[in-house]
Amino acid sequence: MENSRDKVAQLAEIAKAIEADNVTPHLKATATQLVFGTGNPDTDLMFVGEAPGKNEDLQGEPFVGAAGKFLNEMLASIGLERKDIYITNIVKYRPPDNRDPTPEEISEFVPYLKRQIAVIRPKLVIFLGRHSMSVFLPELRISQAHGKPVRKGGQVFLPLFHPAAALYNGGMRDTLMADFGLIPAILKKITSDTK
Ligand code: URA
Repeated sequence: MENSRDKVAQLAEIAKAIEADNVTPHLKATATQLVFGTGNPDTDLMFVGEAPGKNEDLQGEPFVGAAGKFLNEMLASIGLERKDIYITNIVKYRPPDNRDPTPEEISEFVPYLKRQIAVIRPKLVIFLGRHSMSVFLPELRISQAHGKPVRKGGQVFLPLFHPAAALYNGGMRDTLMADFGLIPAILKKITSDTK
């Protein structure tokens, strides 16, 4: 039986592999550091964002800026804290000038994200925004797919709007909050379906 120490060691191996394999060397050259992922490796809930921004690049942790504060608020609204979840990004070096990651940069990081998910084995993988959703569910559009769980290849995924996009858009913010409120019931259903 695997314990969380094994998971921590396996995650550290994946982080080392990203460095050793020289993934996106052009991003590595301009970034301060690798922003691999943080949180509880034994969680039911794994969140996947897009790419680190300025604050994340400086601190080495995903979602520590304004979008992260909003995310913490939404987690609190369903009785959770950051220590209860695991959080990462698809692209793990900051793209310069906060530009969107390119499809090539995203595809270079996909194998490592898949390995992270395989180690953590969460009940639910939550995509924050269309970039991480497009890796696993390219056929969907976030405007239609948000808030609706999808089971694919034995894994349940939940696409949500990106908190940064929703921060200054009242309507999207309300939608994201409402979608977040569905998470406990979705998790409960996954648990009862797999019993
Ligand atoms: N936006 C993201 O997608 N990820 C972060 O880590 C911060 C902001």
